[in-house]
Amino acid sequence: MGFLEKQTDPTSPMHWRGDMQADYFYPSGIAGDKFFRHLMEKDTFLATKCKPCNKILFPPRLYCEDCFEEISEDDWMEVPASGKVKLFTKATINAHGVKMEEPKVIALIDIDNTDGAMLGIIKTNELDKDFSGVKVKAVLRPKGNREGTLKDILYWQVI
Ligand SMILES: [Zn+2]
Repeated sequence: MGFLEKQTDPTSPMHWRGDMQADYFYPSGIAGDKFFRHLMEKDTFLATKCKPCNKILFPPRLYCEDCFEEISEDDWMEVPASGKVKLFTKATINAHGVKMEEPKVIALIDIDNTDGAMLGIIKTNELDKDFSGVKVKAVLRPKGNREGTLKDILYWQVI
């Protein structure tokens, strides 16, 4: 294909059919490990502060993504497991395209006292409600049953 030719079949240049073994192990990293170990014992989240940017990084990071400052051990802090809905959508089909029995409200939640956000599922009976700006809190697994993963956050609840 020449430089000025228009591609009409988006699968033709880089697409092939076949099977490929792909085994992944995706570790959460040092900061993620500390975050989840904390979550197993407490009902709060951890965040880190970048002093030069004056930003509270959430999820916590060892380096600021904006200025590359290394975050010191002293700049870790607890923040509440709550926040405000920034964006949301009502999901009616799952990741495989199959219609779900119960639609789910999936939200991007600005975590309180931080400059960061995370995705979560809001448990609600009001599926058609406008959740923009609504305050929510994380409902966690009971202590002792937590495994140190995102699954420890069962869902988010409107407060
Ligand atoms: Zn920074």
